[in-house]
Amino acid sequence: ARQDGPGRYRFHTWEMERAIRERVSMESFLRHALERQELALQYQPRVSMASNEIVGVEALVRWRHPALGLVAPGRFIPIAEETGLIEEIDMWVLNEACACAARWQAQGLPPVRVSVNLSARLFQQDGLARRVRAVLDEAGLPPYRLELEITESTVMHDIRAAQMVLHSLKQLGVAVSIDDFGTGYSSLSYLKRFPIDVLKIDRSFVTDVMADPNDAAIVRALIALAHGLDLEAVAEGVETIDQLTFLKANGCDEIQGYYYSPPLWPEQLALMLTKKEHS
Ligand code: C2E
Ligand code: CA
Ligand code: CA
Ligand code: CA
Repeated sequence: ARQDGPGRYRFHTWEMERAIRERVSMESFLRHALERQELALQYQPRVSMASNEIVGVEALVRWRHPALGLVAPGRFIPIAEETGLIEEIDMWVLNEACACAARWQAQGLPPVRVSVNLSARLFQQDGLARRVRAVLDEAGLPPYRLELEITESTVMHDIRAAQMVLHSLKQLGVAVSIDDFGTGYSSLSYLKRFPIDVLKIDRSFVTDVMADPNDAAIVRALIALAHGLDLEAVAEGVETIDQLTFLKANGCDEIQGYYYSPPLWPEQLALMLTKKEHS
């Protein structure tokens, strides 16, 4: 940085250097994270408004970084997407989540559906349904116990191709949800033609649902849209009883969020399912 430059300029340069250094080290570490078995999954419960029971869990990847500790996906998924490592990571997550769900089933825990986030890159790979089927077979998990979460941009990127992939997944018997719904661009006329099962209403609308009449109107409209298309409406990021009450009153089918539970390690989640069973 220039010695005589204004302070702000130097600050920005320093910040940028730091960000670049972190990125480069992340990238090289990430390449080895899979082999070193540093990735791990947490599971966040999804609760039915009708039964008040856990009906599903979302698998969320974490990275046990040797130096940085537990790293949230927001810090490494974007890098993995740029470098193409995301495909390998998502396949690892899919395998691990299905194996875990099959284990819970074998242990006689109450049945839950496990959701896995799918990156656009993996969704666009040839033979996705065949690969998913191989994972289910290997784990011994029935297809209806698996849900794949994709975003609006993933399906809108190439509508014809997406339609074919979605049909092959439907045929396989897995469920598909549109994640972060409302934040991206999606044509409603196409949405109608996609064989999907669930709309997950993005947290950004849920957060201020009590304070902001616009957000309240949007959430109501999204729930109505889901039901009009014969889809389930799931709200993300529910943190308070007021939000929960609003969502329930407006017919939302399921909720996910800190109000009920943060993402949990597999043993904690299993314990929670066990307790549910005995209550
Ligand atoms: P997402 O799919 O929208 O996942 C929900 C995120 O919201 C999770 O963050 C979860 O911990 C957080 N969350 C849940 N309830 C609440 C709440 O009540 N309040 C707040 N403030 N946050 C809540 P997380 O685990 O950090 O994941 C961030 C994103 O990283 C995910 O957003 C998803 O897009 C991506 N991601 C996570 N795991 C995977 C994966 O295995 N593969 C891919 N491709 N992406 C993943
Ligand atoms: Ca998700
Ligand atoms: Ca989401
Ligand atoms: Ca999100």
